[in-house]
Amino acid sequence: MPPNDQGPISVGIDIGSTATKAVVLTDRVLGQAVTPTGWDPKKAGLQVLDEALEAAGVAQDRVGAIIGTGYGRISLPIFTRRVTEITCHALGAHFLHPATRTVIDIGGQDCKVIALDEQGAVSDFIMNDKCAAGTGRFLQVMAASLDVSLEELGALAATAEPVPLSSMCTVFAESEVIGLLARGVEKAGIAAGIIDTIARRLHCLAGKVPLRDSVIFTGGIAQNCDICEKIAASLSTELHVPACPQFVGALGAALIGHEITTSFSPE
Ligand code: ADP
Repeated sequence: MPPNDQGPISVGIDIGSTATKAVVLTDRVLGQAVTPTGWDPKKAGLQVLDEALEAAGVAQDRVGAIIGTGYGRISLPIFTRRVTEITCHALGAHFLHPATRTVIDIGGQDCKVIALDEQGAVSDFIMNDKCAAGTGRFLQVMAASLDVSLEELGALAATAEPVPLSSMCTVFAESEVIGLLARGVEKAGIAAGIIDTIARRLHCLAGKVPLRDSVIFTGGIAQNCDICEKIAASLSTELHVPACPQFVGALGAALIGHEITTSFSPE
């Protein structure tokens, strides 16, 4: 069937702690955009909206619904509806991979494990947003301590066995990494140890919400194939990583918008 680009259009905007994402949807994704959230979530939300519409080649007056999710969703007054990121991640993951029973999402400042039932509805979830352990922030601080980029950190980690880090806390782990470097320990082993720490954090969460197949891995970190492989090996779990893992929450929001716009459109 040819894509129905003349049909109702919805937009999902996910204003995360670190990155703001937008997806423009008809019966397929027409365009998407991402920008750092920075100190002004409202500005970031409006910016990704403009950029995603431009990428889609769609004028804003053609949009039937704009759904907001993510921690910054309260900061924008333009939303048709606001929905939690748990619901949006579940919807986006189920849409992309209907066999999904578990979503692992690692964002900039939180990580969560969401359990889905066979219909794709949320049956349970656990979220760590109290500390940076096991989050994108943790990874960024660790990469800076090793003086490497996030891409380099993943590539390094892929080449070595992990040097165990005793602390999952970002502040203590940073001191530990600096100490290991001072003792001449190779960066690659430390990098692998850092990824292992993220897997251990996920293990703790999975103690409360077990990882049932199929497990889909979403969020900004999941863009890094080396890190995905390392985490999958540490968790002894196959991880299904979608093509654009950072956009899954925004996609879920856009899907809710699609539901709203199609239920209002004449047959
Ligand atoms: P949030 O929704 O909480 O803002 P995202 O899911 O958008 O978070 O992910 C943002 C995080 O993704 C950042 O902390 C960043 O460190 C991480 N990230 C982005 N690109 C990469 C990459 N190539 N490798 C590892 N981590 C990455």
